[in-house]
Amino acid sequence: MTLGQVSAYMTPERHDLQAMAREFALKEVLPVANELDPIEGLIPDELIKKMADIGFFGILVPEEHGGLGLGVFEYCMIAEELSRAWMSVGSLLARGNSIIGGFSEAQQAALLPRVARGEYLGAMALSESNAGSDVANISCRARRDGDDWVINGQKMWCTFADGADFIILMARTSSDPDPAKRHAGISAFLIDKERGTFPDGISGTPMRKIGYRGWKTWELSFSDFRLPGSALLGEEGRGFYTVMNKLETARAHTAARSIGLARGALEDAIEYAQQRVQFQRPIAENQAIRFKLAEMATRIEMNRQLMYHVCTIIDNGGRCDLEASMVKYAAAEMSEWVTSEGLQIHGGAGYTSEFAAERYWRDARLTRIFEGTSEIQLQIISDRILGKTKN
Ligand SMILES: Cc1cc2nc3c(=O)[nH]c(=O)nc-3n(C[C@H](O)[C@H](O)[C@H](O)COP(=O)(O)OP(=O)(O)OC[C@H]3O[C@@H](n4cnc5c(N)ncnc54)[C@H](O)[C@@H]3O)c2cc1C
Repeated sequence: MTLGQVSAYMTPERHDLQAMAREFALKEVLPVANELDPIEGLIPDELIKKMADIGFFGILVPEEHGGLGLGVFEYCMIAEELSRAWMSVGSLLARGNSIIGGFSEAQQAALLPRVARGEYLGAMALSESNAGSDVANISCRARRDGDDWVINGQKMWCTFADGADFIILMARTSSDPDPAKRHAGISAFLIDKERGTFPDGISGTPMRKIGYRGWKTWELSFSDFRLPGSALLGEEGRGFYTVMNKLETARAHTAARSIGLARGALEDAIEYAQQRVQFQRPIAENQAIRFKLAEMATRIEMNRQLMYHVCTIIDNGGRCDLEASMVKYAAAEMSEWVTSEGLQIHGGAGYTSEFAAERYWRDARLTRIFEGTSEIQLQIISDRILGKTKN
């Protein structure tokens, strides 16, 4: 049976879109992931081109700007399908669909058609060695020099910095932050760059990771890097608020990636359990394995329905920061558990790179860490239900 198709939120159009994305993921992405991930190969350019041709980078881009003009529901549904095959590809989807706030109408009119065509994909340089969960601790500096900005400092964890056409940089523009408003004084900048290179004044070192291997994650160093005055996005000193305005969508998207990975683990585990014979019968005949698979399927479905709910609220213009944190947290925790159980069902084979089970698990591990760790989501949820603590 095909899981994930029954929901009060589904329509015939959504079923068709899901089926198309599923076919693309299984035919075009999964074989590439299985071949390249074990050798740490990157997402091939041809695959990015195929995604662009279908319109995947413009799901959220309005039709008048050349996009598909669909909602966060469709975006997350497609992200689940792509992540089922390779999380790096499900993540790449966001590099076109997530033009953040701060872009003027004129910039949007010029850039969105390029985004929709997959010709303007981005990276985010927010985190630093001492500013991870505590993003307000950013120390990378931008100072004015005539009409220009001059950037100095370090950034960590900038995924796709090399392959992107632009980088959103968060840097401190005020030297004396008000301790009561630590997020103030940080500004957002748009760095236009050539795909595949770093501009003069920026150098990068790839970080060694255990997963998320479809693209590189970089430590970046800015040394007197100059930007024109027009590179400032939104209001000076309010960059944090400019960037954070799409946080609910980003958290729903991370839930979608977690669910996709878990579904890959479940589907592969079902297939393996039906083939693998021990004690003269398939291991799927043992109640211990059957119940494990039943539990995996149940937890995936619970999270998917919560994700559909969150996406629907976002698409209807409602506020759902609490629910978005809940689904990001729950789906990431679920995904690590399900992918670990999927590996377990494979026995020793699961501990080799002959099967994708270990890849799903390595990638799922990350979903508990990035886009706000599980602990930070719990802090957000508990602050909402209990009120903030005094310090
Ligand atoms: C593979 C990968 C790709 C990434 N890509 C990007 C990217 O493209 N751009 C970007 O800007 N960043 C990126 N990140 C960074 C990511 O967002 C951070 O790693 C994440 O926010 C956690 O920050 P940290 O690693 O500094 O951990 P820390 O903040 O140091 O946290 C360490 C531990 O302490 C816990 N903790 C921290 N504060 C609290 C608290 N108040 N209460 C309870 N527990 C707490 C955390 O939950 C965690 O368990 C990436 C990270 C990884 C690993």
